[in-house]
Amino acid sequence: MDLSFHNFEEDPEILLSNEWLFYWNQLLESDEIATTAPDTLLPFTTNWATLTPYSAFGYATYYLEIILPAERPDLAFSVPDFYTSYTFYVNGAEFSRNGTVATSKETYTPYWLPKTKALGSFDADTLQLVLHVANFHHNRGGAYLPIKLGEVEHMFFNQYLEYGYSFVLTGALLMGGMFFLGLYLFGRHEYTILFFSLFCITYSFRILSFGSYALHLLLPDLPALLSLNLEYIALFLAGILFSLYTLYLYPKETSKTIIYIICLISVLFIVLTVILPLQYSSQLIIPYLAVLVLAILYGFWVYLRAALNKQPGANYSLFSYGVIIAVFIHNIAVYFGYLSPSLLINFVGYVFFFFFQSLVLSFRYTKNLKTALFRAEESARAKSQFLSTMSHEIRTPLNAVIGLSGLLSETAQNDQQLEYSTTIKKSGESLLSIINNILDFSKIESGSLELEEAEFSIVETTELVMDLIGSYTKKPNVELIYDIDEEVPEFLVGDATRLQQVLTNLVANAVKFTEEGEILVRIKVEKKLNESMVLRFEIKDTGIGIPADKLGRLFQSFSQVDASSTRKYGGTGLGLVISKRLIEAMNGEIWVTSTEGTGSTFSFIITLGLSNRIPTIPEFRILNNKNVFILDDNETNLRILKHHLVKARITVTTFKDPLLLLEKKDSLNEFDLGILDMQIPQKSGIDVAREIRELWDKKELPLVLFSSVHELENIEDRKLFNLYLRKPIQQSRFLINLEPLFNKARQKKVAEKNEMPSAHLFKKGVSILVAEDNKVNQKVILHILERLGITPQFAENGQIAAEMNATNNYDLILMDMEMPVMDGLEATKKILSDSSKSPVIIAMTANAMAEDKERCIKAGMDDFISKPVTVNSVKNLLTKWLGES
Ligand code: ADP
Repeated sequence: MDLSFHNFEEDPEILLSNEWLFYWNQLLESDEIATTAPDTLLPFTTNWATLTPYSAFGYATYYLEIILPAERPDLAFSVPDFYTSYTFYVNGAEFSRNGTVATSKETYTPYWLPKTKALGSFDADTLQLVLHVANFHHNRGGAYLPIKLGEVEHMFFNQYLEYGYSFVLTGALLMGGMFFLGLYLFGRHEYTILFFSLFCITYSFRILSFGSYALHLLLPDLPALLSLNLEYIALFLAGILFSLYTLYLYPKETSKTIIYIICLISVLFIVLTVILPLQYSSQLIIPYLAVLVLAILYGFWVYLRAALNKQPGANYSLFSYGVIIAVFIHNIAVYFGYLSPSLLINFVGYVFFFFFQSLVLSFRYTKNLKTALFRAEESARAKSQFLSTMSHEIRTPLNAVIGLSGLLSETAQNDQQLEYSTTIKKSGESLLSIINNILDFSKIESGSLELEEAEFSIVETTELVMDLIGSYTKKPNVELIYDIDEEVPEFLVGDATRLQQVLTNLVANAVKFTEEGEILVRIKVEKKLNESMVLRFEIKDTGIGIPADKLGRLFQSFSQVDASSTRKYGGTGLGLVISKRLIEAMNGEIWVTSTEGTGSTFSFIITLGLSNRIPTIPEFRILNNKNVFILDDNETNLRILKHHLVKARITVTTFKDPLLLLEKKDSLNEFDLGILDMQIPQKSGIDVAREIRELWDKKELPLVLFSSVHELENIEDRKLFNLYLRKPIQQSRFLINLEPLFNKARQKKVAEKNEMPSAHLFKKGVSILVAEDNKVNQKVILHILERLGITPQFAENGQIAAEMNATNNYDLILMDMEMPVMDGLEATKKILSDSSKSPVIIAMTANAMAEDKERCIKAGMDDFISKPVTVNSVKNLLTKWLGES
């Protein structure tokens, strides 16, 4: 081969695929070549098996002499692998080898590894190349790729590139395969995902053990025959896995029979590979390629049909399949020597194929997820709809139970009847609160919770909660106290109803689990922002506490610390969950700290908007410089009350012990006012007051009593005090209440109001129409109104109500929402369209949702009262709209 005019700079690489001298079944040294006649001149990449009289098995010497140019760069040879061992000599010295070349199967060893090696410097202008090749295993003998000679850097670069592609591709496939395997094991047990992951992993091995034989580079001691067998098995296994993957991916478009046949054939090939010697098993690859071509064509048909049937992700499948077919065709052509191998085609092809197949799976995965999500949302909606309907249905009869039992207890003939009716009423009320909880919970769960944004007074909201809870708790040994920091603005913007609900929940829980001590609600500013403010609420009790191991589960649905069947405390375990969700909706969070046996503190922060309304700070001039004493055994209470009084420039002396106060009898004269707590261990406030009144001359000293009891039984006791305040004390009204004590003219008016409503509160002749279809409810409202001295008229439905309104002048109409013929909303619109009449219209409904209220107001109603109605709620409502007589 004359290269004397070859320019290596222009063309850095030469394939030595021309004809070489060929000596069959001889292993000659370089110097023997000149004296021995060759058998033939043989094109270098000739398969021995295809040439008579030669065969695949045997050994041979190849010889080539190259004349090099005088000017040349440093050179290197890239020697591929041969079937199946070789030794390569350059100018008489061994240059590289694979395995051991020998003349018998027993003495030779096969090996495959392409090698690139620099030639080093030498003086001669010719190269004598001698190549010994021996094969006793493979069904093809000799070379299938040429030796390359070229510029040293270029040659090494190409070699590394080849390894690089192999490793990157292997790594990518392995990672992808592992990822999908993980998805299968820990997430979705879908066979498509499993088979695809195994296919990726198997194929990654095949890429490593094929072509540039990178596997041999990693594991040089791996026996060559084993690695060849593994390479074959990997190919057959990949065929099985991909067929199964296709079957599970598009079961409708794929024929099970065909897939099973392909799998069966592949299994057969695997078995044969394992049991047959390499001489035969190396012949399996060609028939398998034929099977593969048929399988690939069938696969293409499947993917085409899937795409036509618009199966999810089928377009990606089809595209990736097209790419892989091109790669296979290319490789088969390379195998038969029609094309030279192209790394780039293989690399890009495989990457595209695997990427698009993963897309198919991801596409399916997310689609399934979306469908599941949609179904879940659908069912949540159905659930919440069901709960709201159900609660409405339960509320209607409950209305009767609570309303009538309330009336019953007022007219009770004896104690037993009173007890029975009170129990019925209480049970009804607790049932109602459970229903309210469930309704709220389902609403929050279904995501239909909407928060209001309105200005409200934080003091009022807190006092409302404390007052409400104080009014029904009968625990004389538990003090209910609240303490709002000075810095907290009176008016803020947010959802007062929801905040009130959270506070009620937490304070009610605190009361429920505390037998003795105090419940302190503290409100502080956590952070000031530009247009909002983060407030921190703390509800601290001295109750039973919560064991540390139960703290974590507290905010989960239906979870209670004591869930045993013998538990002492009732409840549904929903209160805290609802509170948590509401707080989260207000951009906040809730947490709890607790010591068993000592008490718990529930804390939460929420963000509220700032309001620009400035509260009017009342002045209490009359109280300035007055000298007041307070007697209370609870220190927190003393501290807070003192603070309020001192702010109004009142001089305050506090006493914890009544005996200490009484000892100071001489200095009592200095005081202008005394404030006494009723529940004191050593001596009750009443006793202290009696002593003050009886024993000293200061009979005129105004005395104020705090008590959690509604009213003092004993008239004599009542006379001891000038003012009686029920606990929890409303701090905002505390000073207002004190003021009249020093204002003689108004003094008489100050007296605790009788809690029970009495007849004839409203002006004579008030006319009320009640639109209500349910007979029981009619009876309830009739009795309630009669208790208030009003005899209403009734309409069976909205239509009749509208007609009755046209002929009568009603002051007020109580309107049920759901009625036959015409519902409350329609009726309201009809009544209001008659501009000559303007009765106050109030919705009366069992629908408790906030949006129901909104619908009523939109229809033109003035107010809303939710069933079950009670004497008090109706009285308050009528007072608001009709005013007292
Ligand atoms: P419920 O009170 O209806 O059972 P909650 O969600 O309000 O439901 O409370 C869940 C549980 O948390 C209660 O059953 C109780 O075991 C515990 N818990 C809540 N607040 C307190 C508290 N202040 N002290 C002790 N345990 C409490």
